[in-house]
Amino acid sequence: MGNANNMKLRNQRSIINFLRQQPMSRAELARQTGLTRAAISVLIDTLLGEEIVSEDQLVTGKVGRTSMTIKLNPQKYRILSINIARDICSVGLCDFSGEILMVEKFPQKKEILAKQMLNCLYQKAVDFLKKDRGADRLLGIGITAPGPLDSIKGTILKPSNFENWHQIEVVSYFKEKFECPVYMENNAQALAMAERYYGAGVREESFLELVVDTGVGGGLILNGKPYKGIHGYCGEIGHTTVNLDGERCSCGNHGCLELYAAIPNILRSAMEKDKSLTSWEKIMDAYEAGDAAAVWLVERECRLLAASLTTMMNLLDVGVIFVSGELLYKGAYIYPCMEQLMKDQMLGHRGRSIRICPSGLPKESAMIAGANLVLEKYAAGFETTKS
Ligand SMILES: [Zn+2]
Repeated sequence: MGNANNMKLRNQRSIINFLRQQPMSRAELARQTGLTRAAISVLIDTLLGEEIVSEDQLVTGKVGRTSMTIKLNPQKYRILSINIARDICSVGLCDFSGEILMVEKFPQKKEILAKQMLNCLYQKAVDFLKKDRGADRLLGIGITAPGPLDSIKGTILKPSNFENWHQIEVVSYFKEKFECPVYMENNAQALAMAERYYGAGVREESFLELVVDTGVGGGLILNGKPYKGIHGYCGEIGHTTVNLDGERCSCGNHGCLELYAAIPNILRSAMEKDKSLTSWEKIMDAYEAGDAAAVWLVERECRLLAASLTTMMNLLDVGVIFVSGELLYKGAYIYPCMEQLMKDQMLGHRGRSIRICPSGLPKESAMIAGANLVLEKYAAGFETTKS
């Protein structure tokens, strides 16, 4: 492929990435990409011809000239998004703009083996594509699952409390059934990647995505790029030690954060104090009402998370932490508490700022995160995927 062609594809890719965030006029695209208006017009004409983008709305620019905004054509492709979690598995069908068209959930049960669950997800995916008449437009499948996992081989490794799924080759299962690219990423890392395009991280160069639900996970964006580490274990904040003499975690380490701060483990502590505190939402409601047991539990959760986050910030020095998962509920009570603890504990605390904010992703964040895996790969490898 010639240099001119390479350049054209790189520029198209850049346009697609900007349009993933929001529709833009040709003038705005020229400003954002640094390309000339004339070059943008030619590139947009090609993308319009291939129906990858479409014209959206008439807008009036700064000098009073009207123009059409350009958006990704949602009908161009379909994407399957699959989330494998400890409590519920989900499958969704998304359009090219990342919008969720259909979604179905399947509760996990001890007696259901991984293979049976994969079969359920596959059957539902086939139903969705049939209903949507989308099989010939399937761009790819994006799968998110608890870490640690091997995203290159597409295998779930040994996440704690997830024994039925250890060493399950999820990507090859779907590759045998569909003729399209299949990608898998750990759920926290995938959420971090989606946060950059569809959430609160659009303008952030470096941040940590903290996920607290049935486990505790972290995903990292450093200098605008996902950072996964050499073996893909980066961001596993749930397996940092908060108690040297603590019990052994299934990861092999002792006193891991997850053993204390994951929601099922908080609820176990809650049961010893007040049997009515059966969910994180109930704990937060009781905290709001000033209930002593709930105050103790919430403050302890803040201290545990702040301890591991302080270590992480001393190593990585990012300025923002986005919170996902169950801690989103009435999170306005706990983020300032965690921020204050961290400011008191971090190196250079006096002059150092740290922001802890809720994730800006929509409700079905896991579905968006899965679809985003496919869209990122598509935009990055524009020249090698279907068009
Ligand atoms: Zn551990």
